[in-house]
Amino acid sequence: MGDVSGASAIQNKNARAGENCSLSQQGLRPDGRLHGAFSGTLLYYSWSKCSAAVPAAVVAASRRHCESETPSRQPAGRRRYRSAPEVRLAFTTEKSRQAYERTLGVLIEASSSSSRGPANFGRYPIFMERGRGSRIYDVDGNEYIDWMMAFGALPLGHAHPEIVEAITEAASTGAHFASATPVELEVAEMLQKIVPNAERVRFANTGTEAMMAAIRLARGVTGRPKILKFEGHYHGWHDDVLVSSNVLPPSALGLRSDPIKIPDSSGLNRGALDDTIVVPWNDLPALQRAVENHPGQIAAIISEGIMANMGVIPPAKGYLQGLQEIAHAHGILFILDETVTGFRIAPGGCQEYYNLSPDLVTFGKALGCGLPVAALVGCAEVMDALQWGGVLHYGTHNGSRIGMYAARANLRVLTRDNNASFVHTWRLAERLCEGFRELFQKSGGAVVVQNVGPMFQVMFTDRPAIHDYREFCQFVDRAAFQKFVLSLFPFGVYASPSASLHSIVTLAHTDEDVDQTLEAAWKALEKSV
Ligand code: PLP
Repeated sequence: MGDVSGASAIQNKNARAGENCSLSQQGLRPDGRLHGAFSGTLLYYSWSKCSAAVPAAVVAASRRHCESETPSRQPAGRRRYRSAPEVRLAFTTEKSRQAYERTLGVLIEASSSSSRGPANFGRYPIFMERGRGSRIYDVDGNEYIDWMMAFGALPLGHAHPEIVEAITEAASTGAHFASATPVELEVAEMLQKIVPNAERVRFANTGTEAMMAAIRLARGVTGRPKILKFEGHYHGWHDDVLVSSNVLPPSALGLRSDPIKIPDSSGLNRGALDDTIVVPWNDLPALQRAVENHPGQIAAIISEGIMANMGVIPPAKGYLQGLQEIAHAHGILFILDETVTGFRIAPGGCQEYYNLSPDLVTFGKALGCGLPVAALVGCAEVMDALQWGGVLHYGTHNGSRIGMYAARANLRVLTRDNNASFVHTWRLAERLCEGFRELFQKSGGAVVVQNVGPMFQVMFTDRPAIHDYREFCQFVDRAAFQKFVLSLFPFGVYASPSASLHSIVTLAHTDEDVDQTLEAAWKALEKSV
């Protein structure tokens, strides 16, 4: 599944980006999905393969690595991985439990987003204290390999020295001047070089805000009221798009040919949703029909490049190009949401990887490397409508100085050495996903591992692959996934227990992390049978 763009393409592009960076020298979604505590017996697992095509050089590098650097692997039967973590006899999360008790009556669901609370973690979340590299440490002193990486906001891992240095420098010279700053210009210029369509750049703080601005801009420029989004896509928690992005019983979804629009929250402006059209993804005829049913009314088609809020679901071959053609044939703007995929799949994101020409693109998560930095970029013709507040976009913290220092350091590291970081994350992700597939095949049952490069998800399903939201709702056993992830915690492996999110391989992860994670998974499965 997914398209191929060779590692060489990434590296060529990266060469440009890297050039720029040296010249300039200078992490889920708050989805609130309720899973509840897991229960029942452990599944029997099996696997089937469903990954995006991988750049050949990445595969070759990975293969070379496997052959030369994992001598401890056994050819048949149960594989041994290096540095097998033992379950810590004293593994306890008692201090987390106690901290959780203290939050009751103060913090709703123990944190500031439902996806961090008991809805996803079962009885209580783990309270984390610090992180370094690929590791994260909780208040009880437990160490975990972190595959969640702040919902993808940490492409370099925790506390990368260059990010720490950049943030420290910015903090010690003034956090906010409420004026133009040289570093904001530098980061904007870096984006221009790295991201294909970034003729103009505007910074915001979160993916939600960037998308709000993109939608307003699309309405302003086209003079049309409606937007079209896809089932199962999440674009932030604002009213226009908070519809049909939660996992629901298949019976609630209505017919594929005429999906029921299901608001994801109480308190939404229902008027806003009147102007939101919802269509199944990966289905060009459905999109064509919806567009023809609303002639001259649709300002924008909004899509994630890879579905990242229903596990990981790649676009069907040619789908995104088809979507773009339909949009442009009808005078509709194409907004590509790269909040998750930006600076992760390739330096220029899905836009580069799938060779697209969106009108507007939103970024968040990975851009700030742990700080709240988001961006809206796009072609000058559209973006220039922001001038003088013609289409208004404000924000006290937009382009925050500390965030910009972090983003600049982050982009330098990501694009260094001809984009070596991307080759690293793709290679490790392939090793890890292959390892999971092998492991589940041997343990029997029903699991697919879907990934595009460093984004992956283990899906408990008896289907050979999951192609869209409806299949996810119908065929993915989320409780089994949650149970599996929670069973890894005592073995020192941490990931989001929410099946609709995904895991992330970062520059900080190592081959040893992969080995240890697979060994931990073996042990967790053995223990639970
Ligand atoms: N778009 C996508 C695809 C996302 O996954 C998310 C968050 O997970 C957002 C937008 C919203 O970003 P933020 O949480 O930074 O507001």
